[in-house]
Amino acid sequence: MPPTRIKAIVLKRTDFRETSVIVNLLTDSIGKITGLMKGVRSSARKVPPLAFQQGVCIEALAYLKQKGGLELVTKPEVVESFNFQGENANIWKKLILQIDRFIPCAKFNSTQIFNLLFEAGKIIPGLDNHRALEIVVTERILFLLGVGPFLEKCLVCGTNNNLYFFSGNLGGLVCSKCQAREPTSFKLPEKHIEALRFLHKIPIGHIPVVKYIPEGLYLNLTKCINEIVRYHMAD
Ligand SMILES: [Zn+2]
Repeated sequence: MPPTRIKAIVLKRTDFRETSVIVNLLTDSIGKITGLMKGVRSSARKVPPLAFQQGVCIEALAYLKQKGGLELVTKPEVVESFNFQGENANIWKKLILQIDRFIPCAKFNSTQIFNLLFEAGKIIPGLDNHRALEIVVTERILFLLGVGPFLEKCLVCGTNNNLYFFSGNLGGLVCSKCQAREPTSFKLPEKHIEALRFLHKIPIGHIPVVKYIPEGLYLNLTKCINEIVRYHMAD
C-alpha cells in the first residue's frame, strides 16, 4: 500500500532501541495511531528532535497496516512546534495527556478532534487564564466521544423545566423530580448551568474573550466533567 500523508499531534513519545522512537499520534484524518519512527534519534539522519517531541504538530508519511498495530512513520516535519514554556507548557501537556487517555488507538474520522486540539494550541499564547480552555476542550472531546455533557433536557423524563442537577452517570442534567432516582447527581446553581451551556457552544477561537472563571464555578464545572470521566473511563 502507498504511504498516507498525515498531519498529526504527538500525544506520547517513547524511546525505542538505540535510535528510534514510538509515538502515539492524533492524526487529522485517520484516527489515533501508534507509530514507529526508525532511526530518528541517530545524528546521521538529521531529523530535528522537535519533530518527535510530545505536543508537536507534524506532517509525515504513514505506512498503514490493514490490521493496525505499530505503523511505520517516516519523514516527520514540524508544522507547529507548540513548544511552550511555564504555565502554557503545563496546560498544553494536560490537554495532550487527556486526549491520549480518552481516545483509544483506532482508525476513525478524527478531523474534528484534531482541529479542536490544534486550535487550542494556537490560542494558548494569547490567553490570560487557562480555566476556560481546559473546561471547553475537555467537555468538547467528551461530547465528540458521545458521553456528554447533555444540557438541553432532563435525561430521565425529558422535561425542559427545573434542570438543577447534574448526573455524571447519565452525562448531563436531570430535573428536581428525577434527581432522587439518580443518587450520584448533585445540585448546581442556575448560573453555573448557564455558564456550562455558554461554554458548550463557544467556538474555540472565542475562548480568549472569557477573561475570568471564578473559583466556585471552575470547581463545579470541573466536577461535572470529572464525574462523566469517572463513570465512562475507569482506569
Ligand atoms: Zn426529569
